[in-house]
Amino acid sequence: MAKAALHSILSLSVCALFVSSALAQSKPAADLIISNAKVWTVDKSLPTAQAVAVLGDRLVAVGSNADVDAWHGDHTRVIDAGGKLLLPGFNDAHVHFVSGGMQLTNVQLKDATSAQEFARLIGERAKVTPKGEWILGGNWDETKWNPPNMPTKALIDALTPDTPVFVSRYDGHMGLANSVALRLAGITAKTPDPPGGTVVRDARGNPTGALKDAETDYIDKVIPRLSHDQRLRVVKRALAYAASVGVTSVQHMSASYQDVAVYSELLQRGELTTRIYAAPSIVHVDDQAKLGIGRAFGGPYLRVGALKAFADGSLGSGTAYFYEPFVNQGNNRGLLSDEMHPISLMRERYLKADAAGLQLCTHAIGDEGISTILDLYADVIKAGGEKDRRLRIEHAQHMAAKDFGRFAQLHVIASVQPYHAIDDGRFAEAHIGHDRASRTYAFRTFLDHGVRLAFGTDWEVAPLDPMLTVYAAVTRATLDGKNPNGWFPEQKLSVAETIEAYTMGSAYAEFQENEKGSITPGKLADMVLVSDDIFSIAPEKIRDVHILKTFVGGKLVFDASAVHP
Ligand SMILES: [Zn+2]
Repeated sequence: MAKAALHSILSLSVCALFVSSALAQSKPAADLIISNAKVWTVDKSLPTAQAVAVLGDRLVAVGSNADVDAWHGDHTRVIDAGGKLLLPGFNDAHVHFVSGGMQLTNVQLKDATSAQEFARLIGERAKVTPKGEWILGGNWDETKWNPPNMPTKALIDALTPDTPVFVSRYDGHMGLANSVALRLAGITAKTPDPPGGTVVRDARGNPTGALKDAETDYIDKVIPRLSHDQRLRVVKRALAYAASVGVTSVQHMSASYQDVAVYSELLQRGELTTRIYAAPSIVHVDDQAKLGIGRAFGGPYLRVGALKAFADGSLGSGTAYFYEPFVNQGNNRGLLSDEMHPISLMRERYLKADAAGLQLCTHAIGDEGISTILDLYADVIKAGGEKDRRLRIEHAQHMAAKDFGRFAQLHVIASVQPYHAIDDGRFAEAHIGHDRASRTYAFRTFLDHGVRLAFGTDWEVAPLDPMLTVYAAVTRATLDGKNPNGWFPEQKLSVAETIEAYTMGSAYAEFQENEKGSITPGKLADMVLVSDDIFSIAPEKIRDVHILKTFVGGKLVFDASAVHP
C-alpha cells in the first residue's frame, strides 16, 4: 500500500514538472483581454493598472497594456475600454432578491399623474396578466393627482372584470383592492375593521376598495404564493437587472427554501449570472445544522451556510429598539422582535448555529437592539472559543457610543446600506433627536474603530443600483435636498473607501475575499466597465453614472451598447 502511494505521488510530481515546463515554453492564450482601461483594482499590491487578461473564469494578468498583451493569442477576444474605468463587480451584501425581482415585475403606478392614468395603467396590465394571477405592487401617490382624492374600486372595476387587483400606496400603509379581490378576500359591508386596520367605506357603508393597514389580516391570506415557475421568472428578471447595474454578487437575506430551489435549478441550467449567497431564517437553524454543512458551503455561483436573524424593527415604524424613548412618541422605545422572546431562545439558536459552523447575520437597528446582539455574540465566542466566524450585524443603524469599540473587539462586521442614510436622514432627527442621530449610519466612526464594513442596499427596500449607494456614502446628501453638503458630513467616506466596502468588504463578509472582491490574478473575473470616472467627477454626479459592461467569470453578462446601440 505504502509503495503504491509513493509511486503515485512520484508520477504525479513528474507529471506536474512536465506540465509546468510546457507552460513555460508556450503560455496558454487568454480568452479575453480588456485593454486601455483605467483599472481600479482594490488590491494594495497594485492599486491601478491599464489592462487585464482572463483565462476561463479567472483573471490571469493585471498590468500595463504591454504586460497583458503577452497573453494575446489567435482566439483572444480583445475589448478596448477606451480609457473608461474598470472596477471589481459590486457585491451587494444585503438584498431580498426575489422581492426585488417581484418589484420589477409588478405594475408601476408611482409616476401616474392623474386618477385616469392610474386606471389606464392597471387596465393595460390586466390585458397581459394570465388568468387567475393578481395585479400587485403599485406605489401610487394620489398627492400627484388633481384633485388628490383617494382612489376607489369604481375607477378600475370595469377594466379588471376577471383579474384580482391589490395595489399599494407608496408608503405601504394603504392599498386599493378591486371588486374581484374583495370577493376573494370575503370583504363585504358586514366585514368588521381588523385590529389596527380600517376597511374604508362609502356613505352607505359599502367598502370602497381602500384598505388601511388591513391587508395583512384580509388580503395577504388570499394572494397565492409564487409557484416554482413564477419564482423562476421573477429571479431571471432580477438576474438581468443586477447585471445591468453592475451587481455581480448578492447576499440574499431571509431567503426561503423555495428561493434556494430556484437558484439551484438555474445553476444546473447554467443560467445564474449573479453569484448568490443565500441566508435563510435562523428559525430553521435545525435544518441546516442537521445537514452538517458550514458557512459559505457551495460553489462560485451559489453558496449557503449563513442564517438571518432579527433583533428588532425599523426606525420609520417606531419599532427599532432603543435605550431611550423616541422623540414625541410617549414612552415608546421600540420592540425586540418575536425571535427575541425570550432572549434565551435566540442565544440557544446562535449557539446551535455556531456549533454547526454556520454564519450569523442579525438585523439590528436601535442602539439597545444592537447592544443586546453584541452581548449574545460575546456569549457565542465564549462558548465556542475564538475562531474565524465573521459574525455580522445587518443595518447597525443607531449605535450607542460605548459599542463601536465592542464591535471591533468581537470582530463583528457592520453590514450597512448607505442609501438608507440619505433616505432616513430626512426624518431621523425628528424621531430620535440630534445626539443619537450623530451616531446613525456612522460609517466613518466604524472605520476609525477598525470595524470592517460590508456595503449593500436592502433591495427591494432601496434601489439596487450601486451608483446610488456610492453617491449616498460619498455625499450623505439627503433625498429631500436639505443637506447638500452632507447630513453629519463627518461620516462621509471617500470613493475609494466606498468601493472597497462594496467589493472586498462584502466578499470578506461571505468568506470569499480570496476568490473575488478585487482585480487580482487568480481571482474570479467579475468586473464592471463604468461610464464615467467616479474618482474624478463631482460627487453629486455619481448618481447619474451607469454601467457599460458587466463581466461575471469573464463572461459578458450585460452590454449597454447592445441595449442602446
Ligand atoms: Zn433587509
